[in-house]
Amino acid sequence: MGEARRTKTCRLCYMEIDARAEKCPYCQQWQHRLALTTVRPAIPSLIGLAVMVAVLGFAAYTGRRLWWSGEDFANHAGELTVTGSRMDFWNVNGGLRAMVVGKLRNKGSVPWKYIELECQFYDAEGKLVDVGHESHSGTVLSHGEAAFSVGFDADLPREAYVGHQVIVRAARDARSGW
Ligand SMILES: [Zn+2]
Repeated sequence: MGEARRTKTCRLCYMEIDARAEKCPYCQQWQHRLALTTVRPAIPSLIGLAVMVAVLGFAAYTGRRLWWSGEDFANHAGELTVTGSRMDFWNVNGGLRAMVVGKLRNKGSVPWKYIELECQFYDAEGKLVDVGHESHSGTVLSHGEAAFSVGFDADLPREAYVGHQVIVRAARDARSGW
């Protein structure tokens, strides 16, 4: 009873070949494990593609954070208001300087930065006589409050400034990247 000849099937052409064969005599395909990757290049390239997609996805996510301009203030203007402001006047170097201090209250859920304040001044008849613009450098957190002070050179005599009003004209979402 002779020893039966052991065979295996070629992994590429599926011909019966000697079990010890390292290379198929029919199609010349190497039979060891690593050979699999050489006949199926789609597998490593799929891994490469997956890695590339992951890297691009991460870049897009961080890029969005960097370039995102945030919520539009126009849609939230009523949420950021000035409360309890008052004005004072000082003679500085021969000129009159107006100073308005108050608090900014944020009733909304968006934190704001680069807040542009417009300060309007009225005379005794309620007529608008002067205006000043200044930006508040700090951030007002959502449902938060912050004090501000803005100073202007007053061009009119002290008596002309009877009333005042501070209006928030613009602001930028503090979560935006720039
Ligand atoms: Zn073969």
